[in-house]
Amino acid sequence: MSTENNCFFCNTKCEVFQTPDHHLANTYRCKYCGEYILLQKGLSEVYDIREPSDKFKIACILNERRLKKLVGIAFDNKTNKEKKICGFPLVSVGDILDEFPKKASDFLNRTLLNLSRLTAGPFDCISRDDMKENEHLLLFNQNRKTRDAFLLELAEQGFIRFNIGSSTLFILTTKFWEMVENLQKTEVGNKRAFVAMWFDKSMDDYYKNGVKKAIEDAGYVPVRIDLQNFNEKICDEIIAEIKRTKFLIADFSGMRTGVFFEAGFAKGLGREVIFTVRKEDIEGLNEHFDTRQYNHIVYDSPEDLRKKLYNRICATIV
Ligand SMILES: [Zn+2]
Repeated sequence: MSTENNCFFCNTKCEVFQTPDHHLANTYRCKYCGEYILLQKGLSEVYDIREPSDKFKIACILNERRLKKLVGIAFDNKTNKEKKICGFPLVSVGDILDEFPKKASDFLNRTLLNLSRLTAGPFDCISRDDMKENEHLLLFNQNRKTRDAFLLELAEQGFIRFNIGSSTLFILTTKFWEMVENLQKTEVGNKRAFVAMWFDKSMDDYYKNGVKKAIEDAGYVPVRIDLQNFNEKICDEIIAEIKRTKFLIADFSGMRTGVFFEAGFAKGLGREVIFTVRKEDIEGLNEHFDTRQYNHIVYDSPEDLRKKLYNRICATIV
């Protein structure tokens, strides 16, 4: 049985019904925020939100997730993505708020991606008047005034173009689509995980039963280019693969200079880098390079590496 109610985050009228097989949880189905689950009790983190801007930010993220066709969220006081309610991972309010764009470039890039998901084809017109009340969620802008100012800026930058004589109808320009195609390479849906490590026989087992399995368990595809085939030189293929990757695993066992380069290059591109090192190599690493601020995963067996790396991927890669 579902009842008409309001979305907890964006306040739009939405369906609310008891979560199947969970007497103490409600599923919300909002046309902007998609589906999410709220426990009826003990969810102080959610029910105590006083800041309307926090609710707005959460609605933006949920709306973005819906457009990306990602699975819904079951809110809890602590994130535990391995645990699920009706297939929805448990995620805390803090972790969702953390996904809200922080830098101007994030606002711009994610807005462009959201707009691209609204159209049926590249040169479809979008009507500003047709953007309904809560569609400002798409632009991460809280009200109509800032949304309109942002759209004018997008036009000024050449990403959108208003039809001649119209201040409401606009198209997405060739410049827009070029930018979106570049952004899509690193967006969700990109399942590539580049592995930078020492390709020595002593590392085979750690790769096969540790790194590779952890990446696959987390739903990604490991990409590894054997440096030995390239005389240990950084080649164009490696550079191209790192540009394409969603995140990078840098394993410092054996301290290969290539791994330092690849980790630095990926970080410079803004990719998430996960640092790992074999227990017996940690001292040597600390002696030569100060990478301690990066919180390495230290492991003593392939199984240990698989477990720790899997948990880290689930916790840090969205
Ligand atoms: Zn909503």
